[in-house]
Amino acid sequence: KPIFNFCAGPAMLPKAVMAQAQQEFVNWNDLGCSVMEISHRSANYIDVAKQAEQDLRDLMNISGDYEVLFMHGGGRGQFASVPLNLLPAGGEADYISTGSWSNAAIAEGKKFGKVNIAAESHSENGFASILPRDKWNLSDNAAYVHYCPNETVDGVEFDYIPDVDKPLIADMSSCILSSEIDVSKFGLIYAGAQKNIGPSGLAIVIVRKDLMGKSREGTPSIYDYALQSQSDSMFNTPPTFAWYLAGLVFKWLKAQGGVKAVQAINKQKADLLYNYIDESEFYSNRVVANYRSKMNVPFYLKDENLNKAFLAESEANGLLALKGHRSVGGMRASIYNAMPLEGVQALVEFMQDFAQRNS
Ligand code: PLP
Repeated sequence: KPIFNFCAGPAMLPKAVMAQAQQEFVNWNDLGCSVMEISHRSANYIDVAKQAEQDLRDLMNISGDYEVLFMHGGGRGQFASVPLNLLPAGGEADYISTGSWSNAAIAEGKKFGKVNIAAESHSENGFASILPRDKWNLSDNAAYVHYCPNETVDGVEFDYIPDVDKPLIADMSSCILSSEIDVSKFGLIYAGAQKNIGPSGLAIVIVRKDLMGKSREGTPSIYDYALQSQSDSMFNTPPTFAWYLAGLVFKWLKAQGGVKAVQAINKQKADLLYNYIDESEFYSNRVVANYRSKMNVPFYLKDENLNKAFLAESEANGLLALKGHRSVGGMRASIYNAMPLEGVQALVEFMQDFAQRNS
């Protein structure tokens, strides 16, 4: 029976990519060793690094106005790196609160300056909606506006790119490369790699060039965008294996037909799951329809006493890691790019069967 991994992160990666990585693990490029063991300054590695960047640029249609950085420290590293580079000492920034991860960025941002929470969408249903842009209370003096287009824990996703007159900063950790976006609308996009891209620890940063070079005094060198840009993201030893694997995922995405093609499959997968949840009496999802995430689908059993049995039986059926985040309970199916349609079909079949047997 095939195994499908619904983990929110580190997440399932494409099977074909993992097979290639396994094959190349100890003998990469006929060098007799792995890509992890060669110098990041060698011509062999620089080819890998450059190709990965170019493939990402192609996939997201990133113009020459933007720098693409491969950094350390994952998504949370950027919670600090963004204010260190873009928020002058004593300055303020607007943050939009839509769930657990935007709130974590807010908590970190507060260490570096004044944070204005320009919109907050918590309700008795938890984070289940998004305030429309015209209800936001943006501050005149903000250095930037930060938001999280897809909230991994709460399963809430923006269905629009907010229009603001300050640099727009987006934490795309759990939605990067899942649907087509217009990069030119953003000042900076960042993403921890471990959902749609590759191993954890790596962070991708896409930053408009005119925003670099303003880091505040005391910014750690490895978090300084301008310095990393000048060093081609190799100021120190980069996470070479993660970067290489990200490159394989970018090639895989291109072979699938690029982001547009993957977006269509993602919609199919999400529709299948939400439609079933909505028509069933047994399960529910609390997020307002327009803002339901296509990557992370939280759902609840009407009878929460069955949670333990649901998790044990789903796992025994090869459907892994369906437990919801501890802060919200219930279940969560993360259906990133690498999750095939068959995985969601298998999940829905199991959910139907479980409901029938326990109704
Ligand atoms: N931002 C979002 C939206 C996330 O989902 C996560 C992790 O799940 C993070 C940030 C934190 O990423 P990391 O663990 O790489 O620091």
